[in-house]
Amino acid sequence: MDHVTSQPSASKTDRYAWAEPGVESLGDGLYRIPLPLPGDSLKAVNVYAIAGQDGVDLIDAGMALAQARERLTDALGQLGYGLGDIRNFFITHIHQDHYTLAVELRTTLRGKITLGEGERINMEAIRDVADGRSEPGFIEMLPAMGAPELADRIRQFMGPRLADPRPRLQWSDPDRWLADGAMLDLRSRSLRAIHTPGHTRGHVVFHDEASAALFAGDHVLPHITPSIGFQPSITKGALADYLGSLRLMLTLPDSRLLPAHGPVSDSTHDRVDELLAHHETRLSQTLDAASAGPVTALAAAEVIPWTRRQTKFADLDVMSQLLAVGETSAHLEVLVLRGQLVRHTTPEGVDTYTLPVG
Ligand SMILES: [Zn+2]
Repeated sequence: MDHVTSQPSASKTDRYAWAEPGVESLGDGLYRIPLPLPGDSLKAVNVYAIAGQDGVDLIDAGMALAQARERLTDALGQLGYGLGDIRNFFITHIHQDHYTLAVELRTTLRGKITLGEGERINMEAIRDVADGRSEPGFIEMLPAMGAPELADRIRQFMGPRLADPRPRLQWSDPDRWLADGAMLDLRSRSLRAIHTPGHTRGHVVFHDEASAALFAGDHVLPHITPSIGFQPSITKGALADYLGSLRLMLTLPDSRLLPAHGPVSDSTHDRVDELLAHHETRLSQTLDAASAGPVTALAAAEVIPWTRRQTKFADLDVMSQLLAVGETSAHLEVLVLRGQLVRHTTPEGVDTYTLPVG
């Protein structure tokens, strides 16, 4: 799930042209296949197919939906493959719009699933939620962020979805947990898995150095800023991790950006620069919001403008409010790490932030 913000664009039609059904050939046996998602915010998820002599490898798999499965079947058919020809699902991160169709297809087909080993902790947290042992971390953390009432509204909103009867299928382990730096030899290409924690703890991108291409998952998205740390196992350092993972991209040679949501573009570095600048702006807005006295993440979120349209917090829908409070908390924590704010935790366990004394 991603937070729709910033980046204006030419027109609405152009903005979503990438999500139209079909197959886009990117050259050298590489294809982009957008698969549908429910809801209106993300439109679609890109699956990248790397054609080989005895099968096809996929980067990300889409969501376990009948319509996505049909669309993938059609697209692979156009390339001369069936679903049974999928050799590997290389998944960038554990979110359901990337992972769950791979698990569904693996129950009857031969494809092997890989996922970054940093996602193990999220996998365990997801199962704890599915088995009723705990609530998702992003709900549990809301009282500490000063937003216990929002937690209740999220529970009501998500109740039916948390009781999904299929979680055991969707959240079974991958066949292989990928270590940082692992090389994937596909004969036609070599991909290096690079850990890029932030969007989730175990997010990975796949770098094809010889072709100067980066399969970026949700780490670097062209039109929106990825949500930070919206995952079952919450970490206070998610934004600091994310900013480090963005800077890491600048240490690689610049490459074609192949994102999971949005169109392909020429430069990863250009977009990384924009994302870093966006977060610096948010950090200074967040610092302003905290400078008048101790604030909670909720109180800071209430005075910061949201989305491209500068919407007020109170006018956001409940899920966007959840993301906004989480994102504000993440920015406050970076300001603490930078020494620009200090955090105090009240006896009730609520985190408040204020300027350092003196
Ligand atoms: Zn996604």
